[in-house]
Amino acid sequence: MRILVTNDDGINAPGLAVLEEIARELSDDVWVCAPAEEQSGAGHSLTLNRPVRLHQHGPNRFSVSGTPTDSVMMALRTVMDEKPDLILSGINRGANLGDDITYSGTVSAAIEGALAGIRSIALSQVYAKEGMGDDVPFDAARQWALSAIEPLLHAPIPARTLFNINFPPINASQVKGIRAARQGFHDYSRGSVVEGRDPRGYKYYWFGLNAIEHTLDHGTDLEAIDEEYISVTPLQLDLTHHETLAALAERFKT
Ligand code: MN
Repeated sequence: MRILVTNDDGINAPGLAVLEEIARELSDDVWVCAPAEEQSGAGHSLTLNRPVRLHQHGPNRFSVSGTPTDSVMMALRTVMDEKPDLILSGINRGANLGDDITYSGTVSAAIEGALAGIRSIALSQVYAKEGMGDDVPFDAARQWALSAIEPLLHAPIPARTLFNINFPPINASQVKGIRAARQGFHDYSRGSVVEGRDPRGYKYYWFGLNAIEHTLDHGTDLEAIDEEYISVTPLQLDLTHHETLAALAERFKT
């Protein structure tokens, strides 16, 4: 099995190293192609207004001066001579739960894989409080990732579908288990805008992540994490709302 490992936190992120270790437990044929710098919040963006550069860091190990989507595209079209059987994206430093996944570069790398017809899994380690920087512990992800990934390797999934895994912010020994969960919803009071002044006296604004309001609906990824379970959510790329489509068709009937 050939595995492509990528992320949105960048080629030097500690979570990528954890995921590489996990990938090597599954296969000897592991490739890494990840953004050169952190791209959290990049979503599914593709770099179109400037060139991207590819750097090789070792055997089968590359970085791209662009987004997670750029990295997967470069891996599939330029770096790898044959398509991978599996794409693993992460392990992200921080949650990718509920509506937030639309901002996620980690999930978007897996989306790009799903679009290419490759089984793709996004993995994220939730952390307890803001401002932890490089101190975010990956213990739960490190110990549990294989148990979460292995059942997904042969699970039947339709085209344009991918998996999103989140690990709760606790020690591996405290994790209660793994739960299949649907995508939850955040109340839209999400985050904060921090205002400050730079060293030259100019105002800046910086988006923060504190004060996120959760709606812990039953059966959601948010609820699973809150109850100290790992969440596994199948995601689909068809954003069409089919019931509304039928109603619209009536409305536009001539
Ligand atoms: Mn990230």
